[in-house]
Amino acid sequence: MGQMLEALLKLQSVETQLSQVLSRLRSRENAVKAQQRKIDHLRIQYDQLHEHLIDKRKQADSLDLDLKEKEAQVAKFRTSLNTARTNKEYAAILTQINAFRADNARIEEVALQRMQEADEVARQVEELKGQITTEEATLQQVGEHSAAEIERLNVILADLQAKRDEAAAAVAPGGLAIFNRMAQQYDGEAMAVIETQGKKPPYSYTCGGCYMSLTAEHTNALQVADSVRTCDNCGRILYLDPAAQKT
Ligand SMILES: [Zn+2]
Repeated sequence: MGQMLEALLKLQSVETQLSQVLSRLRSRENAVKAQQRKIDHLRIQYDQLHEHLIDKRKQADSLDLDLKEKEAQVAKFRTSLNTARTNKEYAAILTQINAFRADNARIEEVALQRMQEADEVARQVEELKGQITTEEATLQQVGEHSAAEIERLNVILADLQAKRDEAAAAVAPGGLAIFNRMAQQYDGEAMAVIETQGKKPPYSYTCGGCYMSLTAEHTNALQVADSVRTCDNCGRILYLDPAAQKT
């Protein structure tokens, strides 16, 4: 294998490690973000439920107020029963009292129902509050663990970046430009080995990156020249397996 391809393979080896470290960094950061999103979602639920609770309590309170007013009316009617001058007047007041009583019984029932509903919502609110506390503790843990891990990974990253600069300096600018473009496109996998199929000629060849077939021309050229050849399909820089070349 020629000097340029060797330099490119060295660069590829560093690039592969770099993208692994970057992907671990991303997944650490995502773990924290995912936990935060979970808490945000619970908080929205909490706010909605809390509003619902206030609403139920307001309804119960207003019914209670209504009931008290109507009971005061009944008391007033009762007093006027004593001052009724005729049987007819007495009967009329009594009818009104009974109507209010029937009404009050109904209001009382609804008020009780609203109160029970409010209690149930209050229970759910408390449950959600506990859940948020638990998830916040988890966030704290995930955050602390991630911070230590992110710090460790950043040290490795800085070291790899220096190694990458060094390896990149050994590659000719034309080859490096293709390498960088492919590395960006394929998550750090800029190069692909040519895979040989068949026990004897004519062999068939495929790209180890995209698994599409390649013409024999690439292999033939790489056997004699140290050049940058790219896969016709995916564009990755092709190389021959050093181990296979010796045999
Ligand atoms: Zn390919």
